[in-house]
Amino acid sequence: MTGREGRAPAVAIVGGGISGLVLAHELLKLSPAAEIVVMEADDRPGGKIDTREIDGLRLEWGPNGFLDNKPATIALAQELGLRQRLLPSDGAARKRYVFSRGKLHRLPESPGAFLKSGLLSWPAKLRVLMEPLARRRPEDRDETVEEFARRRLGRQAAARLIDPMVSGVFAGDPRALSLAAAFPRIAELERQYGGLFKALRRISRERRREGGAAVSPQPGGRLTSFEDGLGELPLSLARALGDRLRLGCRVTGLECGGAAGGASNPRAFRLRCAEGPPVDADLVALAIPAHESARLLATSQNGSCPAEARAAAEVAALLEEIPYSPLAVVSLCYDRDSLGHDLDGFGFLIPREEQRELLGALWTSSIFPGRRAPRDTALLTCMVGGARLGPLLERDDESLVALTREEIRHAMGINAVPKRAVVFRHQQAIPSYPPGHPARVARMEQTLAKRLPGLVLVGNAYKGIGVNDCIINSTAAAAGLLRRSGT
Ligand SMILES: Cc1cc2nc3c(=O)[nH]c(=O)nc-3n(C[C@H](O)[C@H](O)[C@H](O)COP(=O)(O)OP(=O)(O)OC[C@H]3O[C@@H](n4cnc5c(N)ncnc54)[C@H](O)[C@@H]3O)c2cc1C
Repeated sequence: MTGREGRAPAVAIVGGGISGLVLAHELLKLSPAAEIVVMEADDRPGGKIDTREIDGLRLEWGPNGFLDNKPATIALAQELGLRQRLLPSDGAARKRYVFSRGKLHRLPESPGAFLKSGLLSWPAKLRVLMEPLARRRPEDRDETVEEFARRRLGRQAAARLIDPMVSGVFAGDPRALSLAAAFPRIAELERQYGGLFKALRRISRERRREGGAAVSPQPGGRLTSFEDGLGELPLSLARALGDRLRLGCRVTGLECGGAAGGASNPRAFRLRCAEGPPVDADLVALAIPAHESARLLATSQNGSCPAEARAAAEVAALLEEIPYSPLAVVSLCYDRDSLGHDLDGFGFLIPREEQRELLGALWTSSIFPGRRAPRDTALLTCMVGGARLGPLLERDDESLVALTREEIRHAMGINAVPKRAVVFRHQQAIPSYPPGHPARVARMEQTLAKRLPGLVLVGNAYKGIGVNDCIINSTAAAAGLLRRSGT
């Protein structure tokens, strides 16, 4: 693969989170001669993925793992020689709970368990069973997750089953989240099969015919990580990139029409950094949060190509419309004997109707026994805040820990004093996909493809926030970017 004058393209990737690192990795596979530089503001690679060793604990600052129901991360791990390092969650940690009206209810995994469960009232269960008769989806607008859930499953199931699932994934509000963008598979199942139960039945029948297992109504996949934490993945990608990855390199400005191809090359860019010389490139990928991309694109007004700068400004305005939820991750670590709770399961989520400040907690020492904390230690990873709450993160650590302990006492009856507590803050943790998001992303892509073809946006702000999604999208973007280089 070569650049405009027969040379390999020079590609600058801004952001060394999983999206930027995977993009660089894939570009090198497709075009080994490409000149690639990944510019990362932080002094370590990985972005939101960051495993910290603190007092004999292995704590995750961001994600605890990925689901194995999509093959992307496992395939990448295999390619990087990390197959033996994969760590699936313990089978005993399958049980998941929802806290509702004063107690933890196990999420039902079978029709019988659903009927016996106390999570929903009898009328609400009957309403769920009437799902095949639900109204058809409105064709004229992008439905929110809450509208969809109420229409198909009824109000109570929307509040007690779907709402906590949304906060578990997006730390978000189902009233403000586009179903088609946030859960495209569910939207697709309805479109293809006419309903969720119909889809489950048809897919199960097809699987059985092929000799496989029936489909579970619960979100599929087993949480999986690596022996030493999820951080192993970006560290391995970073090692393979070597000095192509520049850490401590915050990009502060982006000009179209930089020196890379001379003034006659409309695809050339110049990136300015907080420190060090500028970088010129034929192709640029912004693998940073949407608001950061908006800020950088706005700086392109200073460049020498007003037409491209106008396109950049239009895309920047659309990027500004993607909101982010704040989140605090509070790890509480106890002497197991002092806990008075068996932590038999994966953890629990709390629906918004409970009006609590805790979104939920992972029972991390049960999910990865002996791997994140010593066996005599119980470790809870608690998620506080999210789209439900604003100024919580401004509280100091002591107050956030006290609040989390009170929430854990309320939900699990644990009064024990933790022997260690650690607070990680994410001011802008997870992007939300508001109604209209798919159309917004399509407009950005069209504008860039037509008027600024050397620039692409990758990362979790557009087509999926899971680690799997980031890997899938960056892999696809690599091929697209090279096609655009005109070679
Ligand atoms: C608390 C939490 C828990 C999560 N749990 C899970 C989970 O269990 N499973 C799952 O699949 N997903 C989970 N996610 C989501 C997943 O972690 C993220 O969607 C994914 O890691 C995002 O990767 P990214 O590379 O797109 O963005 P980021 O990780 O945000 O990377 C962007 C990078 O760009 C850098 N940067 C920003 N501005 C500049 C600049 N101007 N110049 C240079 N560099 C810049 C940043 O420093 C950062 O390293 C979780 C997220 C959070 C916050």
